[in-house]
Amino acid sequence: MVREKCEFWEKKLRECGLRLTRQRKEILRVLIKTNGPLNAREIFSELTSSEDFLELSTVYRNLQAFSKRGLIREIDLGTGEKYFELNTGDHHHHLICMGCGEVLPLGCPLRHLEKDLSRETNYSIIDHRLNVYGVCPTCQEK
Ligand SMILES: [Zn+2]
Ligand SMILES: [Zn+2]
Repeated sequence: MVREKCEFWEKKLRECGLRLTRQRKEILRVLIKTNGPLNAREIFSELTSSEDFLELSTVYRNLQAFSKRGLIREIDLGTGEKYFELNTGDHHHHLICMGCGEVLPLGCPLRHLEKDLSRETNYSIIDHRLNVYGVCPTCQEK
């Protein structure tokens, strides 16, 4: 399953006109494995275990290249750091633990609000942002 996903995203990467380097392949693998938002440092720390020589700035540059081509999405979790996740095209939000930083995907509860708002104000609604913060069960026990 993971292998199929890797092949899918590697194909997408090539279709975007990017060369599939070893590092790009690794970055994709980390994002697929995690299935949630990660920052550049977290991705970097996952990579160093299997790669002999890497720099954080290169990882960051690759993430920017992915993001520019729509392969991944940049996410603001309100922590002041940029997070990235694969752009699967499905619209969702995030539930963030303020203790350990765990991030869970959250279905969108705002569809109705958008419709009502549009009706009331005659605005054509384009986007909205929502993050929910809390403390996960593990952190509550600490
Ligand atoms: Zn937690
Ligand atoms: Zn939403």
